Amino acid sequence: PLVLGIETSCDETGIGIVRGHTLLADAVASSVEEHARFGGVVPEVASRAHLEAMVPTIERACETAGIALTDVDAISVTSGPGLAGALLVGVAAAKSLAIALEKPLYGINHLAAHVAVDQLEHGPLPDPCLALLVSGGHSSILRVDDVTDTVTPLGATIDDAAGEAFDKVARLLGLPFPGGPHIDRVAREGDSVSIDFPRGLTSKRDLERHRFDFSFSGLKTAVARWVEAKAASGEPVPVADVAAAFQEAVVDVLVRKALDAAATEGIEDILIGGGVAANSRLRYVAEERATKLGIRVRVPRPGLCTDNGAMVAALGAEMVARGRRPSPLDLPADSSMPVELVLNV
Ligand code: ATP
Ligand code: MG
Ligand code: FE
Repeated sequence: PLVLGIETSCDETGIGIVRGHTLLADAVASSVEEHARFGGVVPEVASRAHLEAMVPTIERACETAGIALTDVDAISVTSGPGLAGALLVGVAAAKSLAIALEKPLYGINHLAAHVAVDQLEHGPLPDPCLALLVSGGHSSILRVDDVTDTVTPLGATIDDAAGEAFDKVARLLGLPFPGGPHIDRVAREGDSVSIDFPRGLTSKRDLERHRFDFSFSGLKTAVARWVEAKAASGEPVPVADVAAAFQEAVVDVLVRKALDAAATEGIEDILIGGGVAANSRLRYVAEERATKLGIRVRVPRPGLCTDNGAMVAALGAEMVARGRRPSPLDLPADSSMPVELVLNV
């Protein structure tokens, strides 16, 4: 099926067009520059930017794909989770298209879409697979038996998301927003073992209750304390070393717990998705440790890890292929859509 996907859950207006597992266009307009000076995404600014970008981005995607809107077999859109006002813009646009073109509408979960997008690069997802979903707002370990229908959370962060920790630590180090890519870059020049930062929820006691859960707020505080102490001593803060040691602490815990979960569930395929999956150290460490255990790791290319429309189109195409019932035309924007709810019907 030829599917057009619309993503507006945060600050990216993403329009993706796919035919089955083939990506035809992935147009993204980001308002990130407008938020940078506030150090975080401003919801009102994001909503307005989506409104302005929607039509031109749809036009650009159709042009790239070499299709007319009337060729499309179905429309899919992020129904949630995300910023309420931002989601509304995408949902309204998707409904208008579905009505005007008389095509089915699929209101899908953004988090499942971060998983499904890998099909565009590496083909059908193995069923079951274990997903490590790490992004700006979420950090979870999921058992995925069917990405269109059966996604079961095994664990999640009990405080900050991994991407949020990257962004906060970057800010502390004076790096621009969003900080993840900057930490990734700066850390290459640093020594990751020069500072020993805490690994959240890995003590024997914590593992009893939180085996597959994460905690990053203690790590963030430890980094802040360390940087303050260094600055107070009058010595320069070794930004690259702090970035590398922080990144190592995050990556170590993410990979350790994902591998433990895969072993526990008897699953041999791990999929890593979400913005933080773009992290070069995470990709390297996951691959290295998994290989030793005979576990396969799939990670989409960095451009498909951060928010985009292709991921929404990819999951929409899978909904059509598996014969899922479309969403009603009064589909809501569901800002706190739970991860288990893959399709809003
Ligand atoms: P969610 O998917 O939970 O709704 P989101 O949509 O805001 O959150 P994504 O676009 O999926 O987030 O991910 C953005 C996050 O990924 C940001 O926190 C950003 O810093 C982080 N990120 C992007 N690239 C990298 C990288 N190379 N290393 C680490 N973090 C990164
Ligand atoms: Mg973004
Ligand atoms: Fe996302």
